[in-house]
Amino acid sequence: MGRLAPSPTGWLHLGHARTFWEAHWHARAAGGRLLLRHDDLDRERCRPEFIAAAEEDLRWLGLDWDGPPLLQTARRSRHRVALERLHAARLLFPCLRSRRDVLEASSAPHEGGPDDEPIYPPAFRPPVDAATSPLGERISVNWRFRVPDGREIRFLDGAAGPQAAVAGRDFGDFLVWRKDDTPSYQLACAVDDAELGVTEVVRGEDLLRSTLRQLLLLEALGAPVPRYRHLPLVRDAGGNRLAKRHDALALRTLRARGTDPATLRAGFALDLGKHAE
Ligand code: GLU
Repeated sequence: MGRLAPSPTGWLHLGHARTFWEAHWHARAAGGRLLLRHDDLDRERCRPEFIAAAEEDLRWLGLDWDGPPLLQTARRSRHRVALERLHAARLLFPCLRSRRDVLEASSAPHEGGPDDEPIYPPAFRPPVDAATSPLGERISVNWRFRVPDGREIRFLDGAAGPQAAVAGRDFGDFLVWRKDDTPSYQLACAVDDAELGVTEVVRGEDLLRSTLRQLLLLEALGAPVPRYRHLPLVRDAGGNRLAKRHDALALRTLRARGTDPATLRAGFALDLGKHAE
């Protein structure tokens, strides 16, 4: 089963359309099912009108999905269960440092996508054998996953080819739960993909580094690992990645200008052959 996982933080643009078209294509070509999941964890930035708009835009593009769309926030109790399991396995630590502390003390460059984090400074970590505080009913500190330092994580990406990274060097201890008592994208995504039966994840290559973190979470939870395809990002004429705040290539704008969705689909189909198998 595949999935379409838009975040309702803005209008869908051409980059989303390409990714979702390809996710849809692979699922249907394999005779598989496809699920629509709105990744609505970010309370500040998500808006209900973007949920409705995403569904409308995807339908305009000619995509369909199976069953009612899911909201990631509706699965919070499942995310909490996973958090408790990781905590019981002593894989987490509470982090009282601010984003700014981490950013300032982090030596390695921060170069990933929007959900990426700078490498967590080892000096901020509690000792491995330190007693961990309980999670508590209402969470008011950030909880991080302690990565296995020096371990190489590998996977074969269906589009981007073989991937390898070293935990602690290429990415560090990452957030699993936030102090505003919400799960992080990494935790929610890993848990949802596994529990909803997703066997293939198609997304942009800005999330490659997130996948390494999610692989560690899936392993720690004893959950099945999907196949991954990370697609090159669609860029504008100036070579910049598309952002939701730039409306020029929003699907709504294209539609208002009379773009034929069949033309978009034909272009995406041409791109298909360019990714390695
Ligand atoms: N919702 C995420 C985004 O729009 C993508 C998550 C994923 O595909 O894992 O960036």
